[in-house]
Amino acid sequence: MKSLAIDFEARTLGWREAEAPEFLANKDVLYRVHEVGVCGTDRELAAFHLGEAPKGESHLVLGHEALGQVKETGAGVTGLNRGDWVVPTVRRACEPPCDSCARGRRDLCLTGKYTERGIFRLHGYFTEEAVDAEEDLVRVPLKIIDFAILVEPLSSVEKAIARALDVHEGEPRTAAVLGLGPIGMLTAMALKARGYAVRVHSLEPADHPRAAILKLMDIPYKPSIDGAADLVFEATGSADAALHALAHMPPLGVMMVLGAKDTQGPVPFLRMIMNNQTVIGTVNAGPESFRAAVEDLARFDRRATAALISRARFTELPRSLTGPATAAPKVVHVL
Ligand code: BGC
Repeated sequence: MKSLAIDFEARTLGWREAEAPEFLANKDVLYRVHEVGVCGTDRELAAFHLGEAPKGESHLVLGHEALGQVKETGAGVTGLNRGDWVVPTVRRACEPPCDSCARGRRDLCLTGKYTERGIFRLHGYFTEEAVDAEEDLVRVPLKIIDFAILVEPLSSVEKAIARALDVHEGEPRTAAVLGLGPIGMLTAMALKARGYAVRVHSLEPADHPRAAILKLMDIPYKPSIDGAADLVFEATGSADAALHALAHMPPLGVMMVLGAKDTQGPVPFLRMIMNNQTVIGTVNAGPESFRAAVEDLARFDRRATAALISRARFTELPRSLTGPATAAPKVVHVL
């Protein structure tokens, strides 16, 4: 099987022959990978800023956003059949499982010893076939098949929104999203679908093609980082943008941090105390958030959702990982 991997010792990114995946348990499912998505994490991995190879190996097959079709199911599989379309989850439990992993919330792992397909210590999906346990696969209905590759990134967004709403102690009305990347765009769409007055802030010019996609849904875009709102979602990767928004948050404001790097700068603790404000970091997603992603993709504006995706050939994957960013937020490679 053809697969795309990084080698941590040789510091190379390249194609290599991988062995066909094996069934290890009777709840395993074998599926053919049809589409894979590229995100910022993949580009960080390709730049050797992140990631770890499986134990005893020096290479890691990349890819954690995938859409596949079931070829074969183990005897113990009850909810999936040959021909079903599936999206795998990314994270697997730590061993022995901590309390969070044991209750099915690996996204909240307490030990940090979890593994992640295509990121940490487990090979990923930039290849032709994969095997996963039934519990690690989300079935996707045919009606969202064109957008199903967005289920994984959207699941992280769903988790962040649910958490922000859980902790907000008032009645949030306005929302600001920082960042025009796939996570920022999906967050804006999910908030709009829930009826919030949402606007997006980033540094790209006002006539950027991604701003035009937002316009299809009447979501305003501002080429500045001035994002004061009841709910703020940081998805820029810029800590400065996050600090700026924090300094302008209204009382009871909640900020979800999804991408910012570490930085140095003043943290307005006293202002946060006096205004009952909350800042929360969030990563990955649990089963409920994957279900929410499948539901949301069925109700999002179809034209805008389609415009998020640009499809390319599987063989063009290396360019998406190391080349310049594209106009469409999500590049999807088709096998
Ligand atoms: C993935 C998450 C993962 C995170 C950190 C993101 O790109 O979507 O599933 O937990 O990277 O590795």
